[in-house]
Amino acid sequence: MKIAFIGLGNMGAPMAVNLLKAGHEVGVFDLVDTAMKQLEAAGAMACASAQSAASGAEVIISMLPAGQHVRRLYLGREDAPGLFDALDGKPLIIDASTISPVDARAVGEAAEAHGLTFLDAPVSGGVGGARAGTLSFIVGGSAEGFEQARPVLESMGKNIFHAGEVGAGQVAKICNNMLLGILMSGTSEALALGVKNGLDPAVLSEIMKQSSGGNWALNVYNPWPGVMEGSAASRDYQGGFLTDLMAKDLGLAWELALDCQATIPMGSQARNLFALHASQGNGGLDFSSIQNLYRGDEGS
Ligand code: NAD
Repeated sequence: MKIAFIGLGNMGAPMAVNLLKAGHEVGVFDLVDTAMKQLEAAGAMACASAQSAASGAEVIISMLPAGQHVRRLYLGREDAPGLFDALDGKPLIIDASTISPVDARAVGEAAEAHGLTFLDAPVSGGVGGARAGTLSFIVGGSAEGFEQARPVLESMGKNIFHAGEVGAGQVAKICNNMLLGILMSGTSEALALGVKNGLDPAVLSEIMKQSSGGNWALNVYNPWPGVMEGSAASRDYQGGFLTDLMAKDLGLAWELALDCQATIPMGSQARNLFALHASQGNGGLDFSSIQNLYRGDEGS
């Protein structure tokens, strides 16, 4: 298939590489030149603009930082038309960025007005999953669009879920990441309390893992340095899923709750904790570094 890929950052670049490996013809565009060069070396066609990458494409995939970038790409601004106004065919549009369901629906409605099928397809699995081609895609959109997208998404991911109509993918992703933020901060809190009372973090982790407190953070992403080989915590919280991105996702959960008058006391607490942690200069560290907010001098 001829695919346009817009946004070649930490996630987008390895995803586009996996499309190339699967035999697709991929035209790429990013504002950053080095990202384009990297993809060109892997066999992609580097294009001068999103519009030129999209020309003749059967599928357009975007992987951008936030809703404003996605809106700008497809809908444009007063001074610059968006991609929807510049397309020469009827490609399937897949946005894999994590953005608000409101933004996803706005872009979906505009796509429909142009006779295009739009899917929001945020991912779970991080940079490791993007490289390994094992991402989970959580898709919102029509059943027909979903089936059309499935083979393309399977070139980049392992679990492909259909959550519901346009926007539903983002809702599911936001709920999942809110829970992840809550359980990572809760796990960090429990570990810090145990260590402050003389326990070995590895011993306490093993006990909780096998007990009713067992959870994903303890199983595969332990936040205490040295407890788990290969974890972000064991490499000074470098790489992984950034605190800034977790703070962004918890902000999206907050907006979602405000929109529908839901109460999210735990999610709000987690958002404040990650926002505080990010504001203290930790935005570029893995999100499990929230452990340091509780740890103080203990065990360091
Ligand atoms: P990133 O900041 O590394 O990459 C974004 C890329 O988009 C950059 O290369 C930037 O230059 C490019 N870009 C911005 N505006 C553009 C435009 N108008 N045209 C072309 N390119 C443009 O971000 P990322 O980590 O790759 O994340 C992308 C999305 O995936 C975000 O919405 C994020 O929340 C989500 N996500 C990230 C992870 C993760 O672990 N990094 C995991 C799941 C989901």
